Amino acid sequence: MPELPEVETVRRGLEPAMTGHVITHAAVNRPDLRWPFPPDMAARLTGARVLGLRRRSKYILADLDRGETLLIHLGMSGRMLVSGVKVGEFHHPHPVPEKHDHVVLTMETGARITFNDARRFGAMDLMTTGEDHPLLAALGPEPLGNAFDADHLAARLRGRGTPIKSALLDQRIVAGLGNIYVCEALHRARLDPRRLAGSLTEAEIARLVPVIRDVLEEAITAGGSSLRDYRQAGGELGYFQHSFRVYGREGAPCPECGAPVARMVQSGRSTFFCPDCQSA
Ligand SMILES: [Zn+2]
Repeated sequence: MPELPEVETVRRGLEPAMTGHVITHAAVNRPDLRWPFPPDMAARLTGARVLGLRRRSKYILADLDRGETLLIHLGMSGRMLVSGVKVGEFHHPHPVPEKHDHVVLTMETGARITFNDARRFGAMDLMTTGEDHPLLAALGPEPLGNAFDADHLAARLRGRGTPIKSALLDQRIVAGLGNIYVCEALHRARLDPRRLAGSLTEAEIARLVPVIRDVLEEAITAGGSSLRDYRQAGGELGYFQHSFRVYGREGAPCPECGAPVARMVQSGRSTFFCPDCQSA
């Protein structure tokens, strides 16, 4: 499932193909993904120029010159493919159409943006630029933005009786964090994922905030190098090699102390952690 760094990598990969260019044709091949597409989506996209691409949490927002913004969410399995244009050093020819190519945007340059989503948990919607989409309205601050700091996090964790792992996954507290980067951040901050959120000290919260930024920024950097060195077949954006310290490494040695990384289930999701380093 794509998390914030993967979505940011997709946004950066789409930018050269979309920003400043007119969508000359929009093919919308089904009425819905997770939710119905907005009425007349193909007609509302056709002929529109993309003014810029932003990201909010795990949503990509394409501002159009008609006062509307296209919202894109990759869901669980959504993939964005760019073809017919150079991405980094590599030129990807148009792929053979696939079964799950639900939306295909053809740009005036000949570039093609394909949204493929086998499981259909993704979403696309159109909203008035500048208005808050219902999916975005309740989101907390961006973890890489200035509004996310130790004071904010302390205020939101105060008195909270849920584990810190679950609190950091709560999108109202901080937007865009998912299971992978929460596990990585808690390991780096040497915090037990089971600790109750309200029990964290000021010093622990002050340690956690920069570490959250670091794990995300390092992953975005890894995504950026994957864009520059772009060899994946078919021009698929957003999935890149990135090494994790604990995530997905049950039984492997903790890079800090050598103890085997453990796995447990919290709120139905796997938590990977080091029982030695994260015992407080
Ligand atoms: Zn350890």
